[in-house]
Amino acid sequence: MAQSSIEWTESTWNPITGCDKISPGCKHCYAEAMATRLQAMGQINYANGFDLTLQPHMLRRPLDWKKPQVIFVNSMSDLFHRDVPVEYVRAVFAVMEQAHWHEFQILTKRADRLEELSAKLPWPKNIWMGVSVENSDYTYRIDHLRRTPATVKFLSIEPLLGPISNLSLVGIDWVIVGGESGRRPRPMCESWVREIRDQCDHAKVPFFFKQWGGVNKKAAGRLLEGRTWDDMPKRKAAIMSKIFGAPPARPVHLPVLEPAITQKFRSVSK
Ligand code: SF4
Repeated sequence: MAQSSIEWTESTWNPITGCDKISPGCKHCYAEAMATRLQAMGQINYANGFDLTLQPHMLRRPLDWKKPQVIFVNSMSDLFHRDVPVEYVRAVFAVMEQAHWHEFQILTKRADRLEELSAKLPWPKNIWMGVSVENSDYTYRIDHLRRTPATVKFLSIEPLLGPISNLSLVGIDWVIVGGESGRRPRPMCESWVREIRDQCDHAKVPFFFKQWGGVNKKAAGRLLEGRTWDDMPKRKAAIMSKIFGAPPARPVHLPVLEPAITQKFRSVSK
């Protein structure tokens, strides 16, 4: 299990690594910088650096983690990247369905492919599906998300790069907002954050303020109007599991993956 320092999750699970940039929010991609570092350190899963790579040996990992937890899926990639075969996406969902004592958080910028594949996937209640929205040009991703059958739907508005005044929150269960950090962070205005917070308040949607960001994100902190904002959807699966106990792992039947597919993406990328 990989413990996570991300404020809104507990662990990460990366059955895929690597990605391509598709919108302004990707400019200073944290995963790209981390993958380059891990490649330089000789980590075997990052031998291809930030090139898209399937990691089939990681698929069953959550089934070995008996303690119920909130798991961010593919913190180092995007599950709905065009080059991830649908059979592989289905295998990731099959594991999440079997590991029902955990809660899984998936985040994508490929909201069109998410909607396209959503009818072919199982949607157990322990899957939280989210889309990233960095400014008002990308709110169309929310419409794609809304049209999926996911029980918990959330928005990651990070890095927030501009005002988003008319945010439609119908059918949305959670909103995360954060500023960019790193060496050359783009600025985020307090008024943009307050405006989103107010829209969440009006729509009664839980609001989580992750950070101001900046060059020194620790110093900038995460207080908004003198307090933290840590609302989250209820952790249904974790609560159920505490009542009934984590179930023993059962045999997992994953969709058959063509060896040619996984081999191709293990050794080569684009
Ligand atoms: S979609 Fe996510 S993982 Fe992929 S390049 Fe953009 S920020 Fe990075």
